[in-house]
Amino acid sequence: MKIKSKVAWGVVALFLSIVGMGIIGLYYIHTLATETRAILKNNYETLQHMGALLAASDSLDSRPDARNQMRVSFAKQQANITEPGERELTEKLGLTLNVLVATGAQDSLLRTLRSQVAAIQGLNMRAIQAKSERADKTAQQAVNYLVMVATAIGIVTFTLILNFPGYIANPIVQLTTSIQAIARKNYEERLHFSRHDEFAELAQAFNQMAEKLDEYEHSNLAQVLFEKTRIETIINRMNDPVIGLDEYRNIVFTNAQALHLMNLSAEHVIGRYAPDVAVENDLLRKLIQADEPGRDRDLIKVVLNGKENFFSKEVIGIQVTPTGEPEPKSIGQVILLKNVTPFKELDLARTNFIATISHELKTPIAALQTCAQLLNDPRLGPLTQQQTTIVGTLSEESQRLSKLVTELLDLSQVETGNLRLNLSPVKSGKLIARALEATHVAMERRGIRVQTQWPNEEPTLNVDVEKTTWALTNLLTNAVKYSPEGGTIEIAVQVEGGKTLISVRDHGSGIEAKYLPRIFDKFFQVPGAPQGTGLGLAISKEFIEAQQGTLTVLSQPGQGSVFTITLPGMT
Ligand code: ADP
Repeated sequence: MKIKSKVAWGVVALFLSIVGMGIIGLYYIHTLATETRAILKNNYETLQHMGALLAASDSLDSRPDARNQMRVSFAKQQANITEPGERELTEKLGLTLNVLVATGAQDSLLRTLRSQVAAIQGLNMRAIQAKSERADKTAQQAVNYLVMVATAIGIVTFTLILNFPGYIANPIVQLTTSIQAIARKNYEERLHFSRHDEFAELAQAFNQMAEKLDEYEHSNLAQVLFEKTRIETIINRMNDPVIGLDEYRNIVFTNAQALHLMNLSAEHVIGRYAPDVAVENDLLRKLIQADEPGRDRDLIKVVLNGKENFFSKEVIGIQVTPTGEPEPKSIGQVILLKNVTPFKELDLARTNFIATISHELKTPIAALQTCAQLLNDPRLGPLTQQQTTIVGTLSEESQRLSKLVTELLDLSQVETGNLRLNLSPVKSGKLIARALEATHVAMERRGIRVQTQWPNEEPTLNVDVEKTTWALTNLLTNAVKYSPEGGTIEIAVQVEGGKTLISVRDHGSGIEAKYLPRIFDKFFQVPGAPQGTGLGLAISKEFIEAQQGTLTVLSQPGQGSVFTITLPGMT
């Protein structure tokens, strides 16, 4: 039965019980009233008539209307015969009364009359007694019935008070618990109500929902597994080695190429903490070294089948924004390796080619320069104005050619890894003095002033004097080139955290922000800049970095640039 019907029937039952109680009460009240009225009418009135008759008989002689009074009382008694035997007694009394009325008051007759009246009175008194006892019984019965019905209603109500809240609340509690279980993704949760009401329907609907969710979850899982397999296949088919780490740096996936490169098997790698595996694997150590996601500049060299292979490394951070959270969260990183050996080989071939050509060009260029010098010698005869100009251009261009060839040679030296450092302790002032010496002619020509700033104690550096001076000279040459005529160049030496910083500041054209990241690239020249080779800064950077230093730039278009060489202190 439905809860709605149950509640309705319960209320109806209670209502009927109360109505029943009322009917029983009314019935007994009515019975008692009837019985009391009967006592009054049937017996009490007889007693009154008999009393009046007796009183009239006492005053027969003194009151003229006594006889009449007796007749009236007797007539009323005749009309109120109610008890068994009362009729006979009344008839006898009537006879006695007739005689008395006819003959007059005689003592014997009066005695008879009184005894007959007493008999009638006695009969009615006994009847009153009997009826009173019956009324008592009826009242008692009424009380009994009412108590019984009230007790029954009380028991039912008490049982309802005890059970009904639980009857309603228990399934709700169970439902709440089950909903919470579903919220925790426990889709196995089911409700079992052994009843046939609205809660049973609710349980059925809930179970259907849970089943559908379970089905959905499993189909989703199947989909996810399918996608996982597909991605794993793609990763495995990739020609480039790939390693995936989770946010705790455990290795979650890798492909055959990466395993081949690391010379490890999947069982030794998957699910393991990467730094633990890296303890026994040099390559993995190099791969997980750079924590900052981004491209690693240095190539990784791996010898495979007796041949050197070069890989570039890219670390891609994976971030997701969990549902309901505002901030993205890192869930790991993917390390991608790219085999750049063919490019490296091509690059090497190019470098060797440039080195050979530069080397081959050095001698003829030197010869050209000597020839130009000889032509300028007055001992070989005077030159016309036009010839002097031509020889001047020849000398200038051969000098530019010589500079280019020297820079190309330096570059090839850097690129082939043949850069040899000749470290020796040197005062920073000496480096600057040498660089200034190399550039003072150009400075004077353009009226450039130089301001220097030194720390209290001049730092000594352990560097390759030639290469560092070369880099510094290059910075000063650029500063002169890009400064306005009559401008100022500031050279500052600072010591910070055990490192020596040498900065060259000019107040020239400056460099646009979009070109800044590229100015250290080989052959890069800012569009519109005066002719150059685009190699000076690239070589300078290589020279400084080879000595564990850095070369950085800060620049504002129209305001000038600051190039800073940072070199480690003496150890
Ligand atoms: P180049 O020999 O062509 O000057 P560099 O490698 O020395 O080559 O410089 C690369 C580029 O950086 C130049 O084309 C130039 O535009 C820019 N550059 C270098 N130094 C400065 C400077 N002090 N002020 C403005 N631009 C500069």
